Amino acid sequence: MNKFVAYSNSEIIRDLKENVPTGRVNISPDFLEQAENDQYGVKLADGLPLALIEAKTVKDVQGVLKTARKFHIPVVPRTTATSTVSGSDAIAGSFILSTAKMNHIKEINKADQVAVVEPGVINQELDDEARKFGLFYAPDPGSKKISSIGGNASTNAGGMSTVRYGTTKDSILGLKVVLADGREIQLGSRSLKQAFGYNLTQLFVGSEGTLGIITEITVRLFPIPLGSSIMGLAFFKDMKTLSTAVTEIRGSGAYPSMLEALDADTVKALDKYEGTHYSENAGAMLILRLDSSNDEMLKTTENILAKRGGQNLQLTTDPKEAAAITKLRQDMLPAVFANGQHVMEDMAVPLSKLAEMMDYIKKVADQLHLEIYTAGHAGDGNVHPTIVWTKTDDDSDDIPDAVQKALQLMFRKALKLGGTISGEHAVGLLKNQWNNEELGDDVDMIQHQIKALFDPMNILNPKRKID
Ligand SMILES: Cc1cc2nc3c(=O)[nH]c(=O)nc-3n(C[C@H](O)[C@H](O)[C@H](O)COP(=O)(O)OP(=O)(O)OC[C@H]3O[C@@H](n4cnc5c(N)ncnc54)[C@H](O)[C@@H]3O)c2cc1C
Repeated sequence: MNKFVAYSNSEIIRDLKENVPTGRVNISPDFLEQAENDQYGVKLADGLPLALIEAKTVKDVQGVLKTARKFHIPVVPRTTATSTVSGSDAIAGSFILSTAKMNHIKEINKADQVAVVEPGVINQELDDEARKFGLFYAPDPGSKKISSIGGNASTNAGGMSTVRYGTTKDSILGLKVVLADGREIQLGSRSLKQAFGYNLTQLFVGSEGTLGIITEITVRLFPIPLGSSIMGLAFFKDMKTLSTAVTEIRGSGAYPSMLEALDADTVKALDKYEGTHYSENAGAMLILRLDSSNDEMLKTTENILAKRGGQNLQLTTDPKEAAAITKLRQDMLPAVFANGQHVMEDMAVPLSKLAEMMDYIKKVADQLHLEIYTAGHAGDGNVHPTIVWTKTDDDSDDIPDAVQKALQLMFRKALKLGGTISGEHAVGLLKNQWNNEELGDDVDMIQHQIKALFDPMNILNPKRKID
């Protein structure tokens, strides 16, 4: 702490309150303590924030940035704080700028197939509203019911339907963003195509609150496909065999809208959590969905599954049964997290390397005697190994050496296979040390130049993503 200070905290807070016309400025120590860490992160916050501001309007956002610039205060943008990479945890002495209360769906337009929303709208709520118009919002992270469109845009969230409809970036047509200097800019358009100017919309998608604050999002909605969708389960002897089947289905022209893999330990954890008995079936479980499938698509998928060792194929067109299967996948993380301290990882590899990556993760777990629960969006080559351990010392939040070693081994393997160490959860504070290794010197430097252009005072989510 500085011994000589130019301004007291109360002077800073007074200025903040003057600049925030409608939002709530929270400074009570109890509240701030609670707000320090997000519950899904790895507890990397380094101290209490100075204030948590719940913005209600663009003017509130601009006001927070005005005070932040004046007193050189770091600003941590946050919406629903489900980041798994410590993207929205507090920084000591920071302002946490929450856009959770900016949560209005401003427009759903059936003819244009777009919605215009504020950042705090929950993904599931937008999808539910869109369905009333015969449309749907495609990106469906496992956190669909608890995460926001603003957070999803800022992390370029993926999900289960990415395999067919792309990640969040593929559903974003335009953004309004408040820059660090207070200007609100409009990016993109509401047309389904735009080839004008540099593509700054996509620069801001996935920028993790380091380049500006997203205040409005224009998203693309898809018409609900005709025909019935088919949901199914298939069981395999292990993840390697499952991965080979997934790669073949992806190349078949059947265009599934979900290809999710769960390893034996994950299925066991789910059984315990849900009271189901799937783990009696086999060593790995595949959840699949085909939207508006025809007979040929279905036959092709069934043939590949049978040829590649898929057993006990269970298919349904019943919406209730299909919803129960989707819920199973959504409950996978809480089921695994219930087993102890954990770190959930996120890597993606080229499809042809998925089986090799799955096999490698198993070897790492055996070699380091670790519990690793592996699941993921297999159809995208995207794996989520979750390492679970038991705390030995209640006072310590340190990550055990074997866990650190396992992460390093898995990350390097993913890179060696031509993949990435962040398929969809972004970089945050957890993975920023890997920038140079994944991107190389030149791109690492260009990222810093871009950051300096938009945020020369480095007040927006410093130390995250690129530092
Ligand atoms: C159970 C569970 C399942 C999950 N499943 C998936 C999954 O399948 N796929 C996936 O991709 N992720 C998944 N996640 C991770 C997480 O939900 C996503 O990263 C999500 O997009 C974060 O949204 P949020 O609203 O909680 O954002 P926050 O955690 O609040 O913020 C995330 C990042 O965005 C920035 N940010 C937030 N709001 C703004 C804003 N208005 N302007 C600028 N920057 C902003 C923050 O600074 C931070 O860097 C899962 C998490 C959990 C807990």
